[in-house]
Amino acid sequence: MGVQGECEPHHDVRVLSVRGLNVRYGRSVRALEGVDLEVGADSVLAVLGGNGAGKSTLLRAVSGTLGLHGGAVAGGEIRFRDERIDRLDPARIVRHGIVAVPEGRQVFARMTVEENLRAGGLGARSAEVRARARERVAELFPVLGERSGQRAGLLSGGEQQMLAIGRALMSGPELLLLDEPSLGLAPQMVGRIARIIGEIHAQGTAVVLVEQNATMALDVADTAVVLEVGRVALTGSAAELAASDDVQRLYLGGHAESAEQAEAEQAEALEHRRGRTLSRWVG
Ligand code: ATP
Repeated sequence: MGVQGECEPHHDVRVLSVRGLNVRYGRSVRALEGVDLEVGADSVLAVLGGNGAGKSTLLRAVSGTLGLHGGAVAGGEIRFRDERIDRLDPARIVRHGIVAVPEGRQVFARMTVEENLRAGGLGARSAEVRARARERVAELFPVLGERSGQRAGLLSGGEQQMLAIGRALMSGPELLLLDEPSLGLAPQMVGRIARIIGEIHAQGTAVVLVEQNATMALDVADTAVVLEVGRVALTGSAAELAASDDVQRLYLGGHAESAEQAEAEQAEALEHRRGRTLSRWVG
């Protein structure tokens, strides 16, 4: 499927390339099977999929943190700017320029906002990179400047998410991995986070955005993949995916008239699709 318009020549430059990636937890859980995807420099890739589809696992594999969760890459390869990174430890991966913001707004609650940001800066390649990142974070998140002496644990959920992203940016990454940044936030705050991700992208940082909120993700992203039980089920430009019937029905609430109905339709459609997908693999 075509991925991006001709007016965006940067897309040919791949920052991340995943080929035939298999991931296991222990001996029996096959969390990812033959996953292929690419992230262009200056682009945002949305990764969609239901619970347990393998979205977080993908981010763990790219950031080298699978081992912390009892998982391992069992096949395939991950390249960052053409260099294999799937055998590197997490600290080396950060030094290469990839930083992850895990699910759940993980900030150091007892430390101040300022101390959190300083901790993020420890991963920067040089003092100059750190100083530039500092300015960027101050511009993107003025609220963090206002709260700099406050304990992170006392911030609102949205502010904590901003701090988690700001801390990740402090090392000056080329690729930012975000795991469900909209989770549990009010719609207005989701909109704010979405605008910030758009801004981060516009400043030249590539982003992989894992989201259950498909509306938000497809709005911000330029390319997208849908994972289903560990495999890539759909891939294409964000616009193509937003227009596809499957994505409409499964992730964008299709024709539902209420949240409950949307949820029921999603569960039903997912079940139906899963059956089809499984029979396709088996057959
Ligand atoms: P969610 O949206 O619910 O977070 P997800 O798409 O991020 O889901 P993953 O968390 O990556 O999915 O899980 C993929 C599969 O791997 C699931 O079957 C899950 O149960 C399994 N899994 C995830 N983490 C572990 C772990 N630490 N040990 C064993 N199995 C795991």
